Amino acid sequence: MLEVILKGHDKFYLVSDVVRMFCGVPEELKEQSKVIAPEGPDITLVNEFFPDGRSVTHCNGRDYEFDGELLEPGREIRRSLYMALADITSKDMPWGCLTGIRPTLVAWEEDSAEDLMTKYFVREDKAKLAFETSREEQRLLSKVPENSLGVYVGVPFCPSRCEYCSFISSDISCHMDRLVNYEAALEREIKLMAPSINRPLSSLYVGGGTPTVFEEREFTALLDAIYSNLKITPDCEVTVEAGRPDTITTGKLEAMRDHGITRICINPQTMKSETLLRLGRKHTAEDTVRVYKQAVDMGFDLINMDLIAGLPYENAEEHVNSTKRLIELAPANITVHTLYKKRRAAMSREKVMDIEKSRGELDKCVAESYELLQEAGYRPYYMYRQKDTGHGLENTGFAKGDTGSIYNVAMMSDCRDVLSFGAGGMSKRCFKQEGEFYKHRVERCPTIKDALTYIERVDEMAEKKIEFFSM
Ligand code: SF4
Repeated sequence: MLEVILKGHDKFYLVSDVVRMFCGVPEELKEQSKVIAPEGPDITLVNEFFPDGRSVTHCNGRDYEFDGELLEPGREIRRSLYMALADITSKDMPWGCLTGIRPTLVAWEEDSAEDLMTKYFVREDKAKLAFETSREEQRLLSKVPENSLGVYVGVPFCPSRCEYCSFISSDISCHMDRLVNYEAALEREIKLMAPSINRPLSSLYVGGGTPTVFEEREFTALLDAIYSNLKITPDCEVTVEAGRPDTITTGKLEAMRDHGITRICINPQTMKSETLLRLGRKHTAEDTVRVYKQAVDMGFDLINMDLIAGLPYENAEEHVNSTKRLIELAPANITVHTLYKKRRAAMSREKVMDIEKSRGELDKCVAESYELLQEAGYRPYYMYRQKDTGHGLENTGFAKGDTGSIYNVAMMSDCRDVLSFGAGGMSKRCFKQEGEFYKHRVERCPTIKDALTYIERVDEMAEKKIEFFSM
């Protein structure tokens, strides 16, 4: 069992973040000032922080300390611990000692990919990726006025639950009546809040779950409510996550097109039908191609398609084949996610850990996908990581030309305000800090997660957000 004793600080979560990368899920024993990892090697480390800002990790008579410019305390604590654990386990992590969900925000502060490599031990390919992505994020964010608002409309329902998903979405196959009531509640919330929105909208994202899970009547009614109540100007980027191909109909495509929406997501996740069916997605790769081609024929010119690397029931080569098939379809955006264990997902931890154990293979196939995408003219434009990945990899959005999603970048940056409608939504206000380009103080206002309670208490949710934004 690995033990890390904290000395001179009490940042248990920072220590846990680093330990988790090397030794599995850790436990924090706060009374004893230590973090333990039952799956780790039998060794004790002392992670010490000094008043002058240095951090040293002591182990077996050795002191691990970075020889160079000091980082801020949290990063310094992680860095010395990372140095020790990398040496003890003889393992390097693709993202080095960066454990946060937004490595590009660190890259924003640096002048080159080399800085990420030398200061944070980020592997060369990831450092280059983060640096390139960070510059594209900055470019896209500069197009979003600081006083503008991003709007999210959430539909937490899906036609069935994918095995790897822990999202709050309900399988609606036996709850069709809920959808009608939920749509009515969304309409009500939008109508109640609309008069208090006195700022330009930079983007609007209808996401889920699967918003196209509504019947055509409710789906059209929701779009009508959005367009008749909110001031959607021609320069506001509007996206609908059409998500599951099995929910997309000609009528729903027409409804979107009639409202002027041409940016949608059609998410195959993999182009291997057998995997899709075993995951519980109830559509095939052929369905994806058919719906995609229909959408293109109807004028949808900004389609994003998501893939997941590391799915069970398929190997790395099959993921790369899926990437090749999407490149042939040539959507404007392709986003490559890496599977990780979500807390409430049906998929067992063992199954995901198996995937995470094949870290090297997953790493290789993600790198190959990126290479193919870049050869085909796609450039990375936004990126984030999930907490708790055993493989330590990331999710990256790629775009052709200037087609990257402003909503995705603004949302991940925590630099622009977001108003969320619907159950489980998180509204936020971002306050610029004196002398800082990107670091904002963020205040959040959550909406109740349970869809039925949201329907019952929608007026209260709207009032809470009106007050939050008028502060
Ligand atoms: S479609 Fe997306 S949100 Fe819905 S169950 Fe599958 S992964 Fe989860």
